[in-house]
Amino acid sequence: MKKIIYLDNAATTKTAPEVVEAMLPYFTEYYGNPSSVYELASMSKKAITESREQIAQALGAKSNEIYFTAGGSEADNWAIKEAAEAYKDKGKHIITSKIEHHAVLHTCEALEKKGYEVTYVDSDEKGIVDLEKLKKAIRKDTILITIMFANNEIGTIQPIKEIGALAKEHGILFHTDAVQAFGHIPFLVDDYNIDMLSASGHKLKGPKGIGFLYIRKGVKIRSLIHGGGQERARRAGTENVPGIVGLGKAVKMAFAKMKENTTKEMELRDYLIDRVLKEIPYTRLNGDGAKRLPNNVNFSFQFIEGESLLIMLDMEGICASSGSACTSGSLDPSHVLLAIGLPHEIAHGSLRLTLSEENTKKEIDFTVDTLKGIVEKLRSMSPLYEDFMKRG
Ligand SMILES: *Cc1c(COP(=O)(O)O)cnc(C)c1O
Repeated sequence: MKKIIYLDNAATTKTAPEVVEAMLPYFTEYYGNPSSVYELASMSKKAITESREQIAQALGAKSNEIYFTAGGSEADNWAIKEAAEAYKDKGKHIITSKIEHHAVLHTCEALEKKGYEVTYVDSDEKGIVDLEKLKKAIRKDTILITIMFANNEIGTIQPIKEIGALAKEHGILFHTDAVQAFGHIPFLVDDYNIDMLSASGHKLKGPKGIGFLYIRKGVKIRSLIHGGGQERARRAGTENVPGIVGLGKAVKMAFAKMKENTTKEMELRDYLIDRVLKEIPYTRLNGDGAKRLPNNVNFSFQFIEGESLLIMLDMEGICASSGSACTSGSLDPSHVLLAIGLPHEIAHGSLRLTLSEENTKKEIDFTVDTLKGIVEKLRSMSPLYEDFMKRG
């Protein structure tokens, strides 16, 4: 394979070699089922306990409040569906936002079909959820507020502390999808009044297909996956022992080097933003300047198709992502970009670049130089751009 410049860390990260190394013995040597009674199995059981403790410590939680799942999507589904079921006698109203990940949005839509009512709160033009509107959306029958910690497309960090306080004041459960934030931004669940929190291994250099749901002691949700008595009878299925070990290792590494990594990412991020805004005209930065994930950059280039941009970047070995929901087979612009008020044609010309501390300034320079050339070329072929230039 040719040399690549990987700038799509919000989609997934490269598994850290140390993580792979930590996982390997749990395929080859300690392969016992943690539910079995012999000594081999006790090795698996011990590894799970250690990983759980590692995660609990990172969140300021207790280890019996951490439940392993098969990733962020399952954790979101579990929290929302089963909180809705458990608290339905109190009410059937849920509050979320328009900029959530589809794992939350589509779950809420599924609940609407089952007779729940969902309010999708607006965000402002920067992509921060509107607290006033959220406050106004609260009703007597509201049972759950679910708002993401940080947005996966435009990187905005939400006012989670304020939302947590608001939920607590009204006696409403508060869930947050922290898949993009956990391991990247420091916080403790108690400081933010978080009742439930979803996270995923592969967004922090851990393996894919493993994540967890934090459930505060006292929250009454039941199982989403029924079967054996694993995870204190709340999440059935033989534990993904190598995955759990890898997740624990990834969390340990992410928290040990969080400050160092994010400082480097922010430097690269701001350098990239500066160069692009200075050197490529008719470009806007989406999201908030300050309340932003350390590694997120999201631009809209006028007169450009994001998909063409991606294909041409790929030919130069640059992996990035656009603002189109191409994964769902449609070319509709992203719901997040539309929610912050971008017109369709601007949203269509969007590009997300998400960094890691492993990226170098040299890679960023090559990316900006390449991007400049591609944008110029695509614009030179665009009748809209030609028109625009003629009109002056
Ligand atoms: C990636 C992501 C998810 C889904 O996590 P998986 O582990 O891939 O299922 C959910 N929410 C956000 C914000 C994400 O970025």
